[in-house]
Amino acid sequence: MDLSFSPAEEAFRAELRAWLAANLPPAWRGGEPPEFASLAEEVAALRDWQRALAAGGWVGIHWPREYGGRGATVIEHYVFQEEMAAARAPEIINRIGVNLVGPTLIAHGTDEQRRRFLPQILPADALWCQLFSEPGAGSDLTALRTRAEPAPGGWVVNGQKVWTSYAQFARWGILLARTDPSAPKAKGISYFVCDMQAPGVTVRPLRQMTGSEEFNEVFLEDVFIPRDHLIGRENAGWAIANTTLAHERGTSPRQLVIHRMLLQDLLRLARAGRDGAPPPASDPVVRQRIAQHVIEVEITRLNNWRTLTRLQRRLPLGPESSFIKLFWSEMSQRMHDTVMAVLGARGLCWQPGPHAETGGRLTRSWLYYRAASLFAGSSEIQRNILAERVLGLPRSR
Ligand SMILES: Cc1cc2nc3c(=O)[nH]c(=O)nc-3n(C[C@H](O)[C@H](O)[C@H](O)COP(=O)(O)OP(=O)(O)OC[C@H]3O[C@@H](n4cnc5c(N)ncnc54)[C@H](O)[C@@H]3O)c2cc1C
Repeated sequence: MDLSFSPAEEAFRAELRAWLAANLPPAWRGGEPPEFASLAEEVAALRDWQRALAAGGWVGIHWPREYGGRGATVIEHYVFQEEMAAARAPEIINRIGVNLVGPTLIAHGTDEQRRRFLPQILPADALWCQLFSEPGAGSDLTALRTRAEPAPGGWVVNGQKVWTSYAQFARWGILLARTDPSAPKAKGISYFVCDMQAPGVTVRPLRQMTGSEEFNEVFLEDVFIPRDHLIGRENAGWAIANTTLAHERGTSPRQLVIHRMLLQDLLRLARAGRDGAPPPASDPVVRQRIAQHVIEVEITRLNNWRTLTRLQRRLPLGPESSFIKLFWSEMSQRMHDTVMAVLGARGLCWQPGPHAETGGRLTRSWLYYRAASLFAGSSEIQRNILAERVLGLPRSR
């Protein structure tokens, strides 16, 4: 494993750090992220932020230069995410467009599709959503039942998607639908671009336990998809979906830095006595738990570096990416549980108020990260992969 950054990588880091120092909006400079009256207001602010980043050449840095990226290396991409998180800069809003759709279109789209869709992604002019999961198809996505039937000039789609993040703000969606129901499960699926403003598309927000409504159900009733919105060949969508899914896994530098910052929050809270009570850190059990978290965050860092080294040497990621996902997501839930133990009764205040610590942010974070063991492949699925492909145990089904 190579544990150092080259002078060019350090120069890249310095350039980005200087840009962030000059351009990070004032609302995000106080340490605590700003509160917004609604999700729509937050999305609008994040679109402005992404536009500013794109104008500085800091969105989609891993895209090739000819499509507006910087052709950044995996290490530069890692450094980028590290610096963004360290500056507590908000994430870009068009993550699905930049991280999933762009690389998929670059690999599998036609020239016309690339010309049409790519330029609107980087400055967040058109937001994208991912219409993959269905009520009966999540971990086993090949079970999806949304049907695309041939029609003059294209297809007519009927079905239901669920957990579609930011669908209510999206202009376009990447859609998996079954085009050949007689073929074996993975063989009859096609990959489309769905116009979210087309007649027959209904988006219904789902309220999460954090109080936010990022998720949606999406109903597709006789939605027409023109022929030029097919990505790749008909019935070859599963292989293309795997390009998209591969970009969802891999390293998690942003999560690494988020949990380093969570550790800072935890240490600050554990050291502070409140209302005449001794500081939580005077409890040896709390101290042991925090020490364990410090060790685990360090393990996450080293695992990220190991993966980076493999990527840099152009070696395939392999099943160890399942280990990284499994480890950080379960570490996150353990750390958040300690944060809640340290907050005590104040942890009940999940919205800003006189008794809320960090305006309720840490409690909402605890609620949000319950999802970490589900998204991008649940813990059980990661364990199955590790059992079968690393330990060589018999297949579970
Ligand atoms: C924050 C978040 C954002 C998301 N955003 C999107 C999005 O934008 N677009 C989109 O398409 N989807 C999105 N998803 C959906 C996500 O991909 C699915 O939740 C995930 O694939 C799991 O599928 P499921 O929810 O249907 O659960 P299921 O697959 O039904 O699983 C339920 C439980 O059964 C277990 N299980 C399932 N199969 C097995 C097995 N073979 N062996 C052992 N245990 C098993 C699982 O581990 C889990 O505990 C999002 C999810 C989250 C949490």
